[in-house]
Amino acid sequence: SRPQSLERLLQSQGFGSRKECRQLIALGRVAVNGEVIDDARTEFLPEPSLCLTVDDADWLWRDKLYLALYKPAGYECSHAPQHHRPVFSLLPRHFVQRGVQAAGRLDADTTGLLLLSDDGPWLHSLASPRRHVSKTYEVHTRHPVSAELIAALLAGVQLHDEPAPLAALACHQLDTHRLSMTIDQGKYHQVKRMVAAASNRVDALHRVGIGALRLDHTPLSALQPGQWQELDATQLAALH
Ligand code: URA
Repeated sequence: SRPQSLERLLQSQGFGSRKECRQLIALGRVAVNGEVIDDARTEFLPEPSLCLTVDDADWLWRDKLYLALYKPAGYECSHAPQHHRPVFSLLPRHFVQRGVQAAGRLDADTTGLLLLSDDGPWLHSLASPRRHVSKTYEVHTRHPVSAELIAALLAGVQLHDEPAPLAALACHQLDTHRLSMTIDQGKYHQVKRMVAAASNRVDALHRVGIGALRLDHTPLSALQPGQWQELDATQLAALH
């Protein structure tokens, strides 16, 4: 990559329009690798070790952002939410400004692992049915979990607007009102509708993992509801 002016670098990282970034710099609110730079035309090589400080908050330059968020209940995965706050309100403003989107959606009342990025092609490929990225959910059921319920989810259940039955890749009972279920599609309300079609009902839903990335394992096990963490290349590879 080539050196870029500080105003362009800041803009690419979501700190505002070119003009707003130029003003931030002129006001002495920006430091690069610890040194205040007040000339917006000063050039730096964009690289992951480049530290940009804006108003005392440090940010390491990133070409693209890949995030894991522990979604709490009561947030919508939409930039134009209807009834709740957007999950994006849990992220720094400059992430949202650079166009971070959620990889698929969790219902407002669903908790757990949500991936986000500003890498459009990556988001697109992750959503592709051909990719078969598995998602594991912990399901709290209204009625006790039965062997018939597990068997039905594994065999496949017919949803009225689907051409063919949908089956869980894996499914087992956790306790009387809880089961674990892995699917590799992402149809609208899929888990809730599959469980309803198998004559039970979802009272609470938690996404434990996507691919080999799990909220209850390293490197994500320290994440608390509402917190996010950046993913590196190795962690992204665990999604295959
Ligand atoms: N299935 C659902 O029904 N809801 C979710 O949020 C995710 C999967």
